[in-house]
Amino acid sequence: MARMPLIAGNWKMYKTEEQSEDYIQALLPRVSSVETVDVAICVPFTDLRAMIDSARGSRVEVYAQNMHHEVEGAYTGEISPPMLSELDARGVVLGHSERRTLFGETDKALALKVPAALEAGLVPILCVGETEAERDNDDTDRKLRQQIKDDLAGVAPERLAEVVIAYEPIWAIGTGRVATAEQAQEAIAFIRALVGDRDKQAAEQLRILYGGSVKPENAAELLALPDVDGALVGGASLEAESFAAIIAAAESAPR
Ligand code: PEP
Repeated sequence: MARMPLIAGNWKMYKTEEQSEDYIQALLPRVSSVETVDVAICVPFTDLRAMIDSARGSRVEVYAQNMHHEVEGAYTGEISPPMLSELDARGVVLGHSERRTLFGETDKALALKVPAALEAGLVPILCVGETEAERDNDDTDRKLRQQIKDDLAGVAPERLAEVVIAYEPIWAIGTGRVATAEQAQEAIAFIRALVGDRDKQAAEQLRILYGGSVKPENAAELLALPDVDGALVGGASLEAESFAAIIAAAESAPR
């Protein structure tokens, strides 16, 4: 069965609740006829309830951007998986490079978070990717192998297909430097093969997104690649118009 593409917008720490309402009212009419692409917005915790209510019944699913792995506990400032599922969040971004580099999120933590998300009925979007220095040193494959092995270690083979992986070369995030089509396809096919080493069927079913300076102008080329099942979009998801243009590019991409 063909994999349904997913276009997910990562808002990062942008948009108050009022701004998020303006945004969703601008986005909904632009995606009302979309049928062959899953659409997600990954919003700050404070926007979750409003966005889930406003997007209910539409094509737009709402994700969080982080969570703790424990169900509850003395973890000041953290949010648990059941707190997200109780709100009806569809899923959660895990291991974004900004969380890894700025907030010390480790592969050990992700090995707990990914299965905890699944356990709570949330779709994890697990981000992986190499730094510029790692790419220059031909270290990309080693880095991806290590992240996929460690971060998915706690996921049983029969649940692997439920995980979404986002390949995000760190040098392409927020820099305007996009991976070439060849680089994106090669890395994503490599990730699929790594998953295939654990479970062949899961590797065929699981969705792998590309992320890193995706814009309306470059989306069509990236989304037409055989192993690319969608995009995780930062900057260009902040305006409903440009986000909708990327969704439209996914709808018309050859599959
Ligand atoms: C991201 O935040 O995951 C991202 C890919 O950002 P940008 O599209 O702005 O590079």
